[in-house]
Amino acid sequence: MIGRHRSGAWIGLGSALGLVFSSIAHAAPLPVVATLPVLADFVRVVGGEHVRVTSLITGLESEHTYTPKPSDIQAVHEAAVLVKVGLGLEVWVNGLIKNAENPRLLVVETSQGIPLMRGGESHGHDEDGRDLHNDEGPRAGGNPHVWLDPENAQVMIRHISEALGRADPERRKLYLANQAAYLKQLDELQRSFVQQFKTIPNRKIITHHPAWPYFARRFGLEIRGDIFTQIGSEPSAKRLAGLIRTIRQEHIRVIVSEPQLSPKIPRALAEETGATVVVLTPLPGALPGTDDYLSMMRYNATTLIEALR
Ligand SMILES: [Zn+2]
Repeated sequence: MIGRHRSGAWIGLGSALGLVFSSIAHAAPLPVVATLPVLADFVRVVGGEHVRVTSLITGLESEHTYTPKPSDIQAVHEAAVLVKVGLGLEVWVNGLIKNAENPRLLVVETSQGIPLMRGGESHGHDEDGRDLHNDEGPRAGGNPHVWLDPENAQVMIRHISEALGRADPERRKLYLANQAAYLKQLDELQRSFVQQFKTIPNRKIITHHPAWPYFARRFGLEIRGDIFTQIGSEPSAKRLAGLIRTIRQEHIRVIVSEPQLSPKIPRALAEETGATVVVLTPLPGALPGTDDYLSMMRYNATTLIEALR
């Protein structure tokens, strides 16, 4: 008798606690994992205080080379949403998702629907243009650095707000409102820098690795060569000689270096040719004053404009 009473009381207490816990769980921010800091920034912009987002890589690592840590598996296991670029950029992420064993995980591929650029791709082709791996569907070989064009960033943010709205339908409208406000800021940034770049006569640059074709196309820059076509393999002497020739013949004044890669070769090329090295970052957080996407884009554009002028 007493036992039954007790268990009844426990059941009552249990369901009361269940109610309390479920309302706490509901109020808790949505756990989101992003592969790159730029995606984490977009998630924060849309989700605000209602998301708790972590980026797997920091701005200091190259987006192409990363080895997930045990804590990353745990984070993905507990996440509601995982946000990635796709296009084979995060070669390390599929294994991570599999190991995390999270059947409820919503995976968002933010590059979907973005028209891709080819050419000079760091992991799609080797120096002679041969395909290195072509096993990731029809969009493989497309350059994955899509976010460096603010117009592409708009597409990516739409994917993110849609996913957050699916994972947390009660706040869907709020996410859409946050999105709308941010897209306006992106529009303004784009318009302002398109205008500023137009005033510069010589817009030819050499870049460190093929991160910049979308940025260059948007702002009217001409990339005349990349130092690395593949992260992790040194450019050949022949390639460097070719770059030096191009810089001299075409009066290229600016070489773009990146904080995630060694500055050795950009500096050597500059010394040889008299060109200037500027350090730009494709990922926020790698340089002072580049903590989020907007400030990173402003930093990259103003630094480059100053150097080209
Ligand atoms: Zn890259």
